[in-house]
Amino acid sequence: MSKFTQHFRMNEQDAMAYVADKMDYFDEGAVLEASEIGDGNINYVFVVRDTVSDKSIVLKHADVLLRSSGRELDVDRNRIEAEVLALQNKYAPGLVPKVYMYDPVMCVVVMEDISAYKNLRTELLARKTFPTFAEDITTFMVNTLLPTTDLVMDSGAKKDAQASYINKDLCKISEDLVLTEPFIDYKGRNIIIEGQLPYIEEHVYGDKELVLQAGILKNNFMNNAQALLHGDLHSGSIFANQDGVKVLDPEFAFYGPIGYDVGNVIGNLMFAWIHGQVVEEDLTFVQWIEETITQIIDLFVKKFNVAYDELVTDVMAKTPEYKAWYLQSILSDTAGYAGTEIIRRTIGDSKVAEVSGVEDHDKRIKLERGLIQLGKALILKRDDFKTASDYRNLLNK
Ligand code: ADP
Ligand code: MG
Repeated sequence: MSKFTQHFRMNEQDAMAYVADKMDYFDEGAVLEASEIGDGNINYVFVVRDTVSDKSIVLKHADVLLRSSGRELDVDRNRIEAEVLALQNKYAPGLVPKVYMYDPVMCVVVMEDISAYKNLRTELLARKTFPTFAEDITTFMVNTLLPTTDLVMDSGAKKDAQASYINKDLCKISEDLVLTEPFIDYKGRNIIIEGQLPYIEEHVYGDKELVLQAGILKNNFMNNAQALLHGDLHSGSIFANQDGVKVLDPEFAFYGPIGYDVGNVIGNLMFAWIHGQVVEEDLTFVQWIEETITQIIDLFVKKFNVAYDELVTDVMAKTPEYKAWYLQSILSDTAGYAGTEIIRRTIGDSKVAEVSGVEDHDKRIKLERGLIQLGKALILKRDDFKTASDYRNLLNK
């Protein structure tokens, strides 16, 4: 009898047995080995390889308990991930790993091994640059986001999709850790380095206008079911090499504001930008990041306009004025959520390596204050970020 008829937490041996039991991906005579390569807080990721043919496959396995803290987290996130990856591969072929199988019992997504691509955050920390990144990530965003909106989909089908991707538990994580606690530390989970608290009390917790605007962005996150988002599009969910990118890990996917995804990409590039500036003092790299940020805005707007004219079916949305309003609201959200991402990764409990890896205390203080100022400008003046040059001006200030 199959070992896999009831959910349990799998180990490397189980991953190999699972592949042998469920798939016919490997050739006869394959000699399998498996290793667990997960580096996140949430799931278990196994690569299973045939040492004879060197073919490999990846299993992402959700346990009922969170990997890091051991608390419970809805395993339905694994279904959402499998379905959303398949959908993204339909809309943006080749930009996500192919899904081979989803198993709701064991909570396993079996997918293409994309180990030829590397974690973008780690690569940017090594100051590597990627010639196709702005092109690929804007194609990914425009092609996966616009087709899932009410402007393109049948209204009933869109509501069914929205219901299917409610994603309560993972949205609650973002509502708290991104859009509440960095501004009001009501659970006492923020992590603030020595000497920084007075600055944060004055410039973040004590800035009533900032807290209000973050609250408005939170309300928009929870109520503006605009498109099926990736939901966690930070530079650790993006893998890149000189040939292109692959986007992973859409388990936070839900129907939310498009600018949340675009803003996550922009905000995370700003960590690389400030790290290159304050820690590395590498102007060539900093300039590449600046160009990439501005290209992403330019290309997103350009591609969005083209796709809009091709795809939009809603008669109300077919005027140039409506299109301009819609795009402007996305750009405002983009700046706002770039800002909330920057502030939450600086103050909140889920830091990025560009911040937490800075060992020199004075540099870290300086880098964090720079990030807080960037984040605030993006949130408070989000309606003013309409073009690439608005971002260039912000960075050059
Ligand atoms: P989590 O949701 O637990 O954070 P991720 O989907 O981010 O899990 O995966 C964790 C790590 O596993 C990634 O950073 C990456 O190194 C590796 N990984 C995940 N999926 C693949 C894949 N399809 N191919 C190769 N490596 C992968
Ligand atoms: Mg994840």
